[in-house]
Amino acid sequence: MTATPATRQDTGTGFTAEHAAALTGRLRATFRSGRTKPLAWRKQQLTRLRALLTENGDAIAAALHTDLRKSRAESDSMEIASTVTEIDHYLEHLEEWLRPRPAGVPEAAFPEGTTARTQYDPLGVALVISAWNYPVNLLLVPVAGALAAGNAVVAKPSELSPATSALMARLLPEYLDADAVAVVEGAVPETTALLAQRFDHVFYTGNGTVGRIVMKAAAEHLTPVTLELGGKSPAFVDRDADVAATAARLAATKFANAGQTCVAPDYVLTDPATARALETALTEVIGQLFGPDPQSSDAFARIVNERHFDRVTALLDSGRTVTGGTHDRADKYIAPTVLADVDPDAPVMREEIFGPVLPIVTVDGLDEAIAFINERDKPLALYAFTDNDVTRERLAAETSSGALNFGLPIYHLAVPELPFGGVGPSGMGNYHGRHSLAAFSHHKAVLDVPLA
Ligand code: NAD
Repeated sequence: MTATPATRQDTGTGFTAEHAAALTGRLRATFRSGRTKPLAWRKQQLTRLRALLTENGDAIAAALHTDLRKSRAESDSMEIASTVTEIDHYLEHLEEWLRPRPAGVPEAAFPEGTTARTQYDPLGVALVISAWNYPVNLLLVPVAGALAAGNAVVAKPSELSPATSALMARLLPEYLDADAVAVVEGAVPETTALLAQRFDHVFYTGNGTVGRIVMKAAAEHLTPVTLELGGKSPAFVDRDADVAATAARLAATKFANAGQTCVAPDYVLTDPATARALETALTEVIGQLFGPDPQSSDAFARIVNERHFDRVTALLDSGRTVTGGTHDRADKYIAPTVLADVDPDAPVMREEIFGPVLPIVTVDGLDEAIAFINERDKPLALYAFTDNDVTRERLAAETSSGALNFGLPIYHLAVPELPFGGVGPSGMGNYHGRHSLAAFSHHKAVLDVPLA
């Protein structure tokens, strides 16, 4: 998926590099005062962030409905509960994670009594630039990580989800220490003004084109980055897989948020016989999920804007339509669609779909599937549906992806102990759970050698 910065609107907030410098100067002064470092401050901020989420469920759901027509159930589970789970995990484990870890000392080379340890130091002032598709979770989970690590933080929500952006801009300073946490709303000019400043970490979620811009800007200051990017996440379906169960899991995870999920299964790879069985099973399960007319279902979201609507509808001719295929631009609605007999070079296979279109590409078994995956960019996630341990082991050993899930796409992000992130073109670095602490900290070596 590529964003073309030139087509984006100037939001005209008038936020310039001078404003950005003043803001980061203020947050840096707070950081230097030492206020953000104590465990008590970090836990208090995390508790307040948790309260922001639990006390404003109605306002959050309303904003998400305005921006994306997200259902209440999706808002509650995939935005609020998922973020609260992460925060609770930090609150439970932070003290233990922050304990210095002893490191072994080679006895022969050092005097008796020498000790070595590592400790996590906060970095300073972090910048979190977020995307529009899960505009609460993707903003607040990194912000929680930055705060857990004892940093000050500037949060930049996406301008493509403006209602949620405005809500976050109102609520964050109300709930959190406003000398240490700031929200800057806006688009390219505002983000560019921010990126001209020296931050101590930049955490970016979005597409790889902008990821490169962010990394270049950060390189000017030798600022480390985390890049949470996207790409095509394949779903391999083995011959022996239970087709009905596979179709149910595939459809639920693909069509959530109308396919606008970075780790949604992008396309299915399977053999021709399983493909035919899946066509029937997917059609049935889509009917169960969204009824005969998904456009009138509360459970089915809309495409974020006309630009993405036009981009996704242009991919609909890439194969035989099994189900769906209809759309309504005025309503930014694209039906949940399954395409079969899709050529590996068809338009739908050339870019991340990021919409409710599921192409099925056929291969002749596991060897060909592995070759297909390895010929392309390393995915953010690889999914497989199989009953076969050899298939599991071979996929784990012979492919590379940000994550590898058997049996259920997407939900690795709900396991805080698993690092969430990509590899190669799908991203750099990771977060969630203790990995967030590592992302926003410096892991410092401390050596203590007795003087006598
Ligand atoms: P987006 O349009 O919201 O852009 C992301 C952020 O980049 C926004 O805050 C935006 O203001 C900023 N931005 C845009 N142009 C910029 C520029 N020229 N300079 C500086 N900042 C700029 O989101 P998007 O990129 O359309 O998001 C969709 C992509 O993000 C997909 O590829 C998806 O897979 C990926 N994504 C990844 C994750 C993940 O966790 N790995 C999560 C969500 C989305």
